[in-house]
Amino acid sequence: MKTVIKEMFASNVCNDATLKKLMSKKAFKRYQTLKLNGEELDIYTARNVAKAIKTWALKNGATHYSHWFMPLTNKTAEKQVSFIEIDSKGHLIEDFNEKSLIKGETDASSFPNGGSRMTFEARGYTIWDYTSPVFIKSDSFGNKVVYIPTAFLSYNGIALDEKTPLLRAQENLSTQAVRILKMLGNKDVKKVTMSLGAEQEYFLIKTDAFNKRFDLKMTGNTLFGANAIKPQEMCSHYFGMIQDDISGFMNEVDNILWKMGITAKLQHNEVAPCQHEFVPIFNTVNIACDQNQVIMETIKNVATKYGYTALFNEKPFKNINGSGKHANWSLDTNTGLNLFDLKQKDKLTFCTFFIAMIEAIDRYYKLIRLSCSYRNNDLRLGGDEAPPTIVSVFASDFVLKLIEELDEKNDINLKKAILDVRVRSLPKTEKDFCDRNRTSPFAFTSNKFEFRMVGSSQPVSFPTTCICSMLSKVLSEYADELQNNCSRENIVKFIKYRFNQHKKIIFNGNGYDKSWAETAQKRGLVDYKDGLSVYPTLLDEDIIDLFESTKVLNLQELKLRQTTLYKNYFDSVCIEAKTMIEMVNKKILPNINEYIKSLYSEIKLNDKILKIFEKAYKEIYNNNNNLIKSVENFEKTNTFDKKIDLIRKIMIEMKSLRKLYDDIEIYLPTKYMPFINYNEILF
Ligand code: ADP
Ligand code: MG
Repeated sequence: MKTVIKEMFASNVCNDATLKKLMSKKAFKRYQTLKLNGEELDIYTARNVAKAIKTWALKNGATHYSHWFMPLTNKTAEKQVSFIEIDSKGHLIEDFNEKSLIKGETDASSFPNGGSRMTFEARGYTIWDYTSPVFIKSDSFGNKVVYIPTAFLSYNGIALDEKTPLLRAQENLSTQAVRILKMLGNKDVKKVTMSLGAEQEYFLIKTDAFNKRFDLKMTGNTLFGANAIKPQEMCSHYFGMIQDDISGFMNEVDNILWKMGITAKLQHNEVAPCQHEFVPIFNTVNIACDQNQVIMETIKNVATKYGYTALFNEKPFKNINGSGKHANWSLDTNTGLNLFDLKQKDKLTFCTFFIAMIEAIDRYYKLIRLSCSYRNNDLRLGGDEAPPTIVSVFASDFVLKLIEELDEKNDINLKKAILDVRVRSLPKTEKDFCDRNRTSPFAFTSNKFEFRMVGSSQPVSFPTTCICSMLSKVLSEYADELQNNCSRENIVKFIKYRFNQHKKIIFNGNGYDKSWAETAQKRGLVDYKDGLSVYPTLLDEDIIDLFESTKVLNLQELKLRQTTLYKNYFDSVCIEAKTMIEMVNKKILPNINEYIKSLYSEIKLNDKILKIFEKAYKEIYNNNNNLIKSVENFEKTNTFDKKIDLIRKIMIEMKSLRKLYDDIEIYLPTKYMPFINYNEILF
């Protein structure tokens, strides 16, 4: 296979370079101006773009197109429409026009809508988001489909998707950031965009092994299983040599993604056995969120070809590192400035934005927590090298000093120190301004923030929507306050005051340290242990005000999101519980029973084992029955508070049922093993 990256990169994307070739000079120029100003395309321009897309699509062998969107299901949705059409004379033609490009209709009541749509109120629209490029995806049979990224709204304009709120939040953030930048003397800035680079972690499990585990197949998690013999520290998987077939897999993933215009940059083995990471180069947030979905789908598809199954769940294995999706992000101006880059000359601009971000997290840390709270991520956060459940920001001592010295010095000495390696032949290496803090949920890393709580399976859109909304709210207040006096002296005084009010969210220490929880409590930071405890806050007054004043989500949209969060949580827990029950009934109890029988028929050498298994059988049997009853009760009840109580009860019961089995697993002879164990899955 020819692997000259430049040649294949974006060969399946209808990007601006392609459009430029296929559109008239006038139409293309207009298209670009509208895009820079973030304005709607007029019908003339849209018609020209559609024509260009059609020519490009047919030339590249595509037979179908699809409006592609992200409903609140954590998965993408599509409807493939062929280019076939019959014209007025009855002739078969290949057709695609601005109407098919701009708007699609779909059944909105069949997607999560929090009850905002009744089954009979079905109309919903998919609307072309021209800021994210159209691309061709080929399936493994060689069929080519044109994917058109779209927003998905109901007939009454309610956002039913991940994209719409992000676009709204992004627009608002740009407006507020430009206001502040003008006050700070950056007169040329017209637009500010959030950039996002999402590191994607995942597990690759041999499909043979995957198929032997009912729990993995049903939930993507193992619900039973004692620790493997070899602890993960001993397998030195992190950055370890990449096995041949995995390397082949990674290469194929990169090739496919490059063609779709995705800047696949880095792949490596992660800490846990069978765990890997994929990193693209950062992109505009909206495009990066779309591309993250394509990345996950591609990893999943290509893995199958190599005999592997990709797991994106946050915590597939107990006592083994989970998977996250670290969201690295920053703010870029259209004039090429990275507002969170310590290297930028204007320290006041850096500090203003930095302090606004600190204030935003301090005021809305419950929203940050909520934005990545769901059943699977709850299993990850707070354990095995994942960020703790308490939200805090790592700001680095370097930045704290910078803020402190802001009024004394205009120009801060930013000379980087040299690393002392004590070998003369090694090249001199500069040290970064600040160290990294791997335990921090929200870490500043000298030119960007790294939001580390985000889970591996979730779309990045909602967490980034929240960040944009929070920040633009604070920036709008800063702009209101400063508009009558934006002298340097006044700005410094003002931001320092705000900083002192909100710096309690900063924690530069070890987040895994037990004492941090106590300190956080003293600072008044609430530790929301799980989704169920933080979901109510989505309808707190300050959060409603945040989303309504920034016009990102109205009350109805917030309610539908809250309903969807609860529903997903309930569904996930119930599916887990039912899977466990099935495994106990069909495999665990019958196998233990057989083993006990065999022990009776043997010469009585091992009374102790017999006792352990008789006791375990009874306990598993009883616990399983309790779990069955709780699930039945949950399904019968219509009272919301009772549902919450029962889900909590079910989670506790699942934990103890698991422990009963995990404790005896190592004593079971192979012949009586109900399923393969961690050693066989992971090593
Ligand atoms: P780490 O060392 O934290 O694992 P990686 O190199 O794996 O970092 O990933 C860092 C990610 O951050 C990449 O996607 C990279 O493109 C992205 N990134 C770098 N600079 C910026 C920036 N200014 N804005 C957003 N993302 C950025
Ligand atoms: Mg990384």
